[in-house]
Amino acid sequence: MFQKMLINGELVGSDSKINVLNPATEEVFAAVPKGTKDDINNAVSAAKNAFPAWAARPESERQGMVNQMADVIASNADMLARLMTQEQGKPLAEAMGEMAWAEGYLRHYATLSVSGRTIQDDDDFKIQMRRVPLGVVAGICPWNFPVLVPFWKIGPALISGNTIVVKPAPTTPVTILKILELCNEFIPAGVVNIVTDENDLGPLLTGHPDVAKVSFTGSTATGKKIMSSSSGSLKRVTLELGGNDPSIVMPDVNVPETAAQIYGGAFLNAGQVCLAVKRAYVHEDIYDDMCDELGKIADAAIVGDGLEQGVTMGPIQNKAQYELVKNLLESAKKDGKIVSGGVVENKSGYFIRPTIVRDVTDGDDIVDLEQFGPVLPVIKYTDLDDAVSRANNSDYGLGASVWSSDVDKAADVAVQIESGSVWVNQHINIGPHIPMAGFKSSGIGVEQSAEGLEEYTQVQVLNIAK
Ligand code: NAD
Repeated sequence: MFQKMLINGELVGSDSKINVLNPATEEVFAAVPKGTKDDINNAVSAAKNAFPAWAARPESERQGMVNQMADVIASNADMLARLMTQEQGKPLAEAMGEMAWAEGYLRHYATLSVSGRTIQDDDDFKIQMRRVPLGVVAGICPWNFPVLVPFWKIGPALISGNTIVVKPAPTTPVTILKILELCNEFIPAGVVNIVTDENDLGPLLTGHPDVAKVSFTGSTATGKKIMSSSSGSLKRVTLELGGNDPSIVMPDVNVPETAAQIYGGAFLNAGQVCLAVKRAYVHEDIYDDMCDELGKIADAAIVGDGLEQGVTMGPIQNKAQYELVKNLLESAKKDGKIVSGGVVENKSGYFIRPTIVRDVTDGDDIVDLEQFGPVLPVIKYTDLDDAVSRANNSDYGLGASVWSSDVDKAADVAVQIESGSVWVNQHINIGPHIPMAGFKSSGIGVEQSAEGLEEYTQVQVLNIAK
């Protein structure tokens, strides 16, 4: 399978190709073009040319086209989910879930409207605040949700009247290319473009003078580079970056129920979720029970090729991340005790069993660093205030959760945590109507919701003397 790029309404190939591996087999399952500097320039210039006509379209037409994209995903979901499992590794049910999520987000964006307001209207002045689109948006995406994240950018960019150039992660370009190929039947040329690379073209896009805004989802290290390269033309930037989400578990919880939910929040997509539970602080009274319960659930996981029936956890998406998680696992084995997992499967594919590590603490790598993989450290605490201060002792601040049978008490604790999303008795409840933001090194700006849509616009004040 060779899946082409979309530039100015044309499917574009290349002389040299990038092989895309299936992480469950380490075999090549598809190829995509190795995009060039010319491809980036052509895509930006196509988006720039398409911008005035697209911005001038009635909002209802833009909303209609976003809904048509949702239709494409819905009517091809089975085929797309199979592609996704092969390139990303997640089990088929999770891949279907990602398609449903992407469709649902697009349908919600299609109901949003960019609105201004009248600030003053009297005998002397009429002053109005308008929100106008920015121009060309660069949407730079990671490999953990290769369809959902691009549409988190395409949806609001298009609704607000911008055009976009998408750059998928080098290891997961296939499914999003396929969807955009299908959408090319109705998207006007240049409104949505996508260029594939070998991790080398991002800086050209974020430094391009004709790009007005960069919407980036990925690592904090890359986010910092993007801020710097965007400064030349003062581009607007939205950065959704890494996280090291803490869960604080109080002693009054129902242990088996809470363990099951924390496991779900930690091991979705083999832990490769920016908002996954990445460290669990558990009160000493229930610490042993909680470790045992988590261990039992992890023991029952069926790890394998996501296309196989019954598999509950797939491989790590790529070799670099696999090596990183393996290294963290080795240091966790020295610092603490493995309750379940800890095993790297001795077969092809980047498989690591879901791992629960106990008797680790702050200062250990597995607690302090973002593992972005299937290894959960469980940390004992005695004093609640101390747990909160340890939870906050991180450069990250993306998500967090607090667990207790006393919801009010948990909510009081939750608001003390320095993170953009704080859940009570749940983890990873996100949606297109809910703003998503990061504190500290977890990001800048907001995605999703009406607030996220505004980030794709520029405020303009029209001030009329009567
Ligand atoms: P990454 O930063 O390595 O890559 C992300 C994208 O940026 C890729 O498309 C890559 O090619 C591109 N890129 C790399 N260098 C660039 C540069 N100098 N300029 C412009 N673009 C560049 O991240 P990743 O490894 O793909 O993703 C994992 C990370 O993403 C984790 O830290 C995770 O927490 C984070 N993440 C965050 C969210 C969120 O919403 N906060 C969601 C998913 C992933």
